[in-house]
Amino acid sequence: MAANKDYWAARALQREAEAYARGAELSARLYDAYQTALRDLRRQINDFYVRYARENRLTYAEAVKALNRAEAREWKASLGEWVERINAETDQEIKARLKAELDALSYRSRMDRLEAMCGQMEMTLDELCARCMREMSEEFGEAYRESYYKKSFDIQQRAGRIWEVAGIDVGMVEHVMSYPWSGANFSDRLWQNKTALLFSLRQDLTQGLIKGTGIGPLSKSLSEQMGQSYKAAERLVRTELNHFHNEADRAAYQAAGIEWYEFMATLDSRTCAVCGALDGKRFKVAEAQTGVNYPPMHPNDRCTTVEWDPEEQADWAAAGEKMPERMTYEEWYQRQVAEHGEGYVERERKRVYNIASDKEQYQRLKEKLGENAPATFEAFQNIKYSSGDDYAQFKAYARDIGNGGLTPLADFKLYQDTAAQIDAELVGVITSDGTEIVAKSDHFVSRVIGSVEERRSGVEISSVREALTNPERRDSRRGKKGVSVRYFGKEAIVTVNPDTGTIIQANPRHSRKEMEQ
Ligand SMILES: [Zn+2]
Repeated sequence: MAANKDYWAARALQREAEAYARGAELSARLYDAYQTALRDLRRQINDFYVRYARENRLTYAEAVKALNRAEAREWKASLGEWVERINAETDQEIKARLKAELDALSYRSRMDRLEAMCGQMEMTLDELCARCMREMSEEFGEAYRESYYKKSFDIQQRAGRIWEVAGIDVGMVEHVMSYPWSGANFSDRLWQNKTALLFSLRQDLTQGLIKGTGIGPLSKSLSEQMGQSYKAAERLVRTELNHFHNEADRAAYQAAGIEWYEFMATLDSRTCAVCGALDGKRFKVAEAQTGVNYPPMHPNDRCTTVEWDPEEQADWAAAGEKMPERMTYEEWYQRQVAEHGEGYVERERKRVYNIASDKEQYQRLKEKLGENAPATFEAFQNIKYSSGDDYAQFKAYARDIGNGGLTPLADFKLYQDTAAQIDAELVGVITSDGTEIVAKSDHFVSRVIGSVEERRSGVEISSVREALTNPERRDSRRGKKGVSVRYFGKEAIVTVNPDTGTIIQANPRHSRKEMEQ
């Protein structure tokens, strides 16, 4: 067991630096987004001048003239495009934000030329904001995941023992994402930043028009203001990454049963007095409070913490099995995820990133399917991000329950069990005319189970097999989807596509008559 305190302190600082490095990459992507937006804004102002200015000067009176009919039509068309863009947004949280911004925009009663141009600028800034929000959510979620596992690895390596780490809980990440630890969460800050920027751009433009400023100075001031806004976004990225990194550490401490941590200020020139005073101080994990005794303490903070064991002999240090001395983080991580199979990390990331939209989807499912929806949100996400084809199966199940093609008495488990049974008992069967069954349609699974609404009972798998291998007769039809062959067995009529070897559907024979009796 490596007990050298300085070594582990250095490791904690290195982990902070790794999280910090993510910020630099993210900021570079945001810079591109800002550049694109700046180009658009510049073009909008230019067009505005070209349209309404006389001899390169645009008077205020000219700018606040009400839109004429053609201009109003044009404005409405651009609004229409923007509505389409919002409707196509797949991230529910971003969509909700954009909708709220659009509502505010369309509430403005009187629309003059200046107002219309500001509206255009606002749409550009909303788009910029949406992009920043998406990039940040992704990066922060990923930083959280990585920090959590790396801290867990460090704790175990320090103890010289290996144990299984609890997976990241959906609720934990959601909590960190939405908790306004500094008075607002990062997405609120992002949109506040946008509102402030829009306000100052407007003010600038209006004053410029009143004073008769030409387009040159206006364009310059636009660049400056966008630059300031980008700096604010960059600061937000740095501070939030430090926040997510430290919150992941806190979760790792809790998962490992670590009771104490030591505050570590990054002792470079930028360290502030507050952080300097906290450096080396020890606190209970249970009493950690962000901004009070747990980093970040202020914007741009780079402080972090390291686990501390008052007796160097705590329970967590004796748990699990002995860790090989030279095990790397990669090897350890692979071992941790090995049990969950291939693609686990990718799915886990999506699971975290899509919490907000998945919750809405789950809500809609519950409204549509009632008792047939998965019992809990977590159960739903388990299906959605399972390693197999559970989700594809679930979608087929939900569709058939929704349209009455499957009895609501059938739960998803029965549906899955039936599908598995069909695969086991019918795939590989050779029909009487030599077609090998290789697959089944989703619809066929529902047909085997049956539907109450369609007053159709199910069919036994053995009856299907009997119809396929030993039919009383069969016929062949050519439809829109190609050829299909029907096998008339004693108790079932089964339809197969002979070109693909797929069972399309099955019906019980004489079922209608029996059920109506
Ligand atoms: Zn600090």
